[in-house]
Amino acid sequence: MQWLTSLNRLANTVIDSLWQANCPLCKRPADRILCKDCDRQIAACQSPKFLQKDYPISPELPLYSWGIYDGALKRAIATCKYNNHPEIMEAISEKIADTWKRSPNTKEFIQQHKKISVIPIPLHANKLKSRGFNQAEILARRFCDLTALPCHPQALQRVKDTKAQMQTKSIKEREQNLSHAFTVPLSHRTSQTNPRSVILLDDIYTTGATIHEAITTLANSNLIVRAVIVLSRPQFKN
Ligand SMILES: [Zn+2]
Repeated sequence: MQWLTSLNRLANTVIDSLWQANCPLCKRPADRILCKDCDRQIAACQSPKFLQKDYPISPELPLYSWGIYDGALKRAIATCKYNNHPEIMEAISEKIADTWKRSPNTKEFIQQHKKISVIPIPLHANKLKSRGFNQAEILARRFCDLTALPCHPQALQRVKDTKAQMQTKSIKEREQNLSHAFTVPLSHRTSQTNPRSVILLDDIYTTGATIHEAITTLANSNLIVRAVIVLSRPQFKN
């Protein structure tokens, strides 16, 4: 019956190789979500400073950006969003969580804001339907798994199907495009005497207009944004 054992072994090898997923970026076999090569290329896009020293949102509100929106990282985000590979965000979120845990400011920040939770920037239902997933939510969920912070993806909803900010022509149009874009469902609102602290999370920070609008909407429901974490931001000259 040795031939049967050999046949079994051969079958298992075939099944194993069929089930081994390929790297979504280069299509080569990979042990983890990304192959070592692509992982290394993405790691090379890491920003030299996680905390953005120019404080682009406001002087009181820290912006943390894991990487620079360029090269392999830019391609990975595009492949995730437009070629249906949400798992890429899971792999990258592990890097953000790791950087967050190692950041010298994190311990003090968590001590200051003990009951803080994480809210991803939502997509409008139409976009969610066509894309099938919200990349910021995938980032947030994995980030929260690894940092043990509560994740509240339902706390902010996008009620206006806005144009991409890049398609807007003027600052005024940009503001109007995003005005009242978000809402906080009743069940997540809290009273002025009992405000709650939150971290906002998104994949890309560009003009900051979306983030500003989300912060205002959350604040109106007494959800106070204490930090913004993004996967990437275009390199700023400074
Ligand atoms: Zn690869």
